[in-house]
Amino acid sequence: MTGCIFCEIAARNIPARIVYEDDLAIAFEDINPQALVHILIVPRKHIATALEIGDADQALIGHLFQMGAKIAQNKGIAEKGFRLVMNTNADAGQTVFHIHLHLLGGRSMHWPPG
Ligand code: 5GP
Ligand code: ZN
Repeated sequence: MTGCIFCEIAARNIPARIVYEDDLAIAFEDINPQALVHILIVPRKHIATALEIGDADQALIGHLFQMGAKIAQNKGIAEKGFRLVMNTNADAGQTVFHIHLHLLGGRSMHWPPG
């Protein structure tokens, strides 16, 4: 989608530190990391928020979680633990309206989150 920063990164029009990519999704380092490991897992398909995920997207969402788990293993944080988080709308702090999973790890985290 024109003007969407994550569509632009997926199309490689805007640079990012890409960790992994396939035909369905792309994973790259967050520009403002909140943990030692902070990677965004982004579907190539533009979906604005979790509220727009449709029946046809179910396999895609599962794929994002599998990709996050594999990257966590590759980064060596799987055993100690990690989070896969999708923020939705203002109260959750969503700032980019193209869905993405945050993979966070490499430090211990609090619950509930702030
Ligand atoms: P949200 O707040 O929508 O859940 O997460 C958006 C995330 O995207 C933030 O953690 C922010 O640091 C990251 N981000 C925003 N713009 C860019 C960018 O241009 N490049 C990268 N790599 N990350 C970005
Ligand atoms: Zn987009």
